[in-house]
Amino acid sequence: MATVELLAPLHAEMTAWRQDIHAHPELGFQEHRTAGLVAAKLEAFGFDEVHRGVGRTGVVGVLRAGRNTRAIGLRADMDALPILEVNRFGHCSVNQGVMHACGHDGHTAMLLGAARYLAATRRFDGVVNFIFQPAEEGLGGAKAMIDDGLFERFPCQAIFGMHNRPSLEVGRFAVRAGPMMAGGAFFDIRVAGKGAHGARPETGVDAALAAAQIAVSLQSIVARNVAPVDTAVLSVTRIHGGDAYNVIPQSAELGGTVRAFSREVMQLVEASMRRVAENTAAAFGATAEVDFRALFAPTVNDAAEADFAARICSELVGADKVDRNPPLVMASEDFSFMMERVPGAYIHVGNGDGAMPHNPRYAFNDEAIPYGAALYARVVERGLSRDGKG
Ligand SMILES: [Zn+2]
Ligand SMILES: [Zn+2]
Repeated sequence: MATVELLAPLHAEMTAWRQDIHAHPELGFQEHRTAGLVAAKLEAFGFDEVHRGVGRTGVVGVLRAGRNTRAIGLRADMDALPILEVNRFGHCSVNQGVMHACGHDGHTAMLLGAARYLAATRRFDGVVNFIFQPAEEGLGGAKAMIDDGLFERFPCQAIFGMHNRPSLEVGRFAVRAGPMMAGGAFFDIRVAGKGAHGARPETGVDAALAAAQIAVSLQSIVARNVAPVDTAVLSVTRIHGGDAYNVIPQSAELGGTVRAFSREVMQLVEASMRRVAENTAAAFGATAEVDFRALFAPTVNDAAEADFAARICSELVGADKVDRNPPLVMASEDFSFMMERVPGAYIHVGNGDGAMPHNPRYAFNDEAIPYGAALYARVVERGLSRDGKG
């Protein structure tokens, strides 16, 4: 019997967990209720170890079977977003202005379902580390867990994570070898000139003019420095400077975001930005200081683990429902930091039609839960198979 069906008896229970978590969303590093719920469930399922407070509000559960020491890590994220939910269903957010608008409630329920199934059946030989991560939405939850010794305390030879994807039909998966999602950085550029009367520009150094020229020149980087076969985005999304109509501002600030699919391209863009900003400012007699903050690494799947995951997906739903070459996604995901430490794969799970993540109308599709849970479970049963054949 396919594992999707094996997980079917848990569907109602997993849905109830998901809707309960949805109704009680918590922002990054504030997932106290959610983490408590997760840890209590793992203990109730008979886990060998349950560790709270890993990376502040993260939880790690350890499940063992047989004698093999090979370990697989399964990761789900638990945090919500500062969004006012506009949905009107019965399990809407009771926390005003906080919403599970990215479906992390669903990911948590999927991993809990797999935990329950695997704890009861233990048809594997090895160690499974269930990683419930806090603060995925830009606050650095993955890094916090890694810095807290995640992979030293819970060594893993391979790790797997997943994210729901609206527009992909329920019962379908998408996973590709190599880059999957972009790395992301934020930047600020502070331009310093010399203030002057608006009618006497010759006595000052116009920071607004230098900033404007920098904004234009930055667009040459993706066009002229990044190789055409590589992909990058550089968007200036903020420009601030000056307060009066008749004063030339002595300072101005630019800010924005950069996305790229490799560390190398990200570093190239950063170095080019510094060169362009500093030298363009100098051309006007001003100075520019660049603060470049790489927040997310690119999400890059290990070729072998991505192939393994795709084969499991095919077993579950048939090869025709598994897209092994989906388009690159410009959004970012902090599971990338875990995959920089341990080879793994990040898989997209179909969520069906509906609003995209981070939209106040977004709704996680409970019909998708058994597919995600089955994928987690089957990755373990095949990756740590008792006959060693995988
Ligand atoms: Zn999100
Ligand atoms: Zn998300």
